[in-house]
Amino acid sequence: GNAVLSSYGTTIFEVMSRLAEEHRAVNLGQGFPDGGGPPEVVAEAQRYLAEGWNQYPPMMGLPALRQAVAAHAARFYGLEVDWRQEVMVTSGATEALAACLFGLLEPGDEAVLFEPLYDSYVPIIRRAGAVPRFVPLRAPDWTFTREDLAAAFGPRTKLVLLNNPLNPAAKVWSAEELAVLAERLVAHDAIAVCDEVYEHLVFDGRRHLPLMALPGMRERTLRIGSAGKTFSLTGWKVGYVTAAPALLRPVAKAHQFLTFTTPPNLQHAVACGLGGPDSYFDGLAAEMQRKRDRLSAGLASCGFGVLPAQGTYFVTADIRPLAGGEDDAAFCRRMTVEAGVAAIPVSAFFEQEPPRHLIRFCFCKQDAVLDEAVARLRGWL
Ligand code: PMP
Ligand code: GLN
Repeated sequence: GNAVLSSYGTTIFEVMSRLAEEHRAVNLGQGFPDGGGPPEVVAEAQRYLAEGWNQYPPMMGLPALRQAVAAHAARFYGLEVDWRQEVMVTSGATEALAACLFGLLEPGDEAVLFEPLYDSYVPIIRRAGAVPRFVPLRAPDWTFTREDLAAAFGPRTKLVLLNNPLNPAAKVWSAEELAVLAERLVAHDAIAVCDEVYEHLVFDGRRHLPLMALPGMRERTLRIGSAGKTFSLTGWKVGYVTAAPALLRPVAKAHQFLTFTTPPNLQHAVACGLGGPDSYFDGLAAEMQRKRDRLSAGLASCGFGVLPAQGTYFVTADIRPLAGGEDDAAFCRRMTVEAGVAAIPVSAFFEQEPPRHLIRFCFCKQDAVLDEAVARLRGWL
């Protein structure tokens, strides 16, 4: 109904970034890198802009980028993708998610989600007139039970929304977990929308496995990626959806009325980036893993209980040793104001039964920034 969106406040990422600015805090809240992105990709964007690529590109995206997305899927996951019928460019993963949910859900349909979840999912599902059903993942390992999974499915289940790797839990889904999910999808003739924006941010020798690559899933899965995360350029808002033609067609109907297109110079630059050498992708993961270790060690030395982080930009920390009964939101606010370090309360990623003892730190920052944050925390605690 009409009240769905007005019942939400401003997103926690915006709230904490503005609070961090106001108090000149080191902002380890909202997830964005503070480096410049790969120089050759940025240079391509400048070149195409200067060359006059400034008008509406085709609605489905520039062929060069759609071809690059298809080639990337073959190269990393062995997926065969027809760029003409199975790839669509969007204005970030956020738009891709909205287009998938608005395009695929009818009023009364049910969507299965795992908690914790990214904050844009549920408002869009509700605004589409659909009903979210939740499967709890429980800290510290963030696993689910078959019983909880089965309980979330029913005769009206249309789709599952899966975030892999998972923000904010930093979990990389195992092949076994994905197989259990795939079995459910087949049993209920349901589809999956897979938010895989952190596909290249996977650590410790793990490999990202798209649900789409599992047996029987190719025709049931929509896979979403984002140049923001893969090239450390979150402000660009270039995303892409890959899916079988029958799934992509209704999503394209939503996309044409949401944004219709995405800046062409950025599309060309991202096409160039996706074709980059293995050393780029390996180097990105290695660099982020090193930063994860640097921040995790610093937080642990301050007395936080640091949880494992298998992927993403984030590490979560247990505040109970330090908070004296305060909940995560109050602790994050006070830490921003008093210590000058901002983080995100993990309860913001829950619709039901939020934990109140975990906060999320973003580690995709210059080493000096991470060190400054730890130094401030040490002085404060
Ligand atoms: N999904 C997840 C899980 C995210 O963390 C984010 C935020 N970066 C997005 C989607 C949105 O990505 P984009 O900036 O490409 O819209
Ligand atoms: N995805 C980013 C995060 O989780 C934030 C994106 C946003 O600000 N909406 O921090």
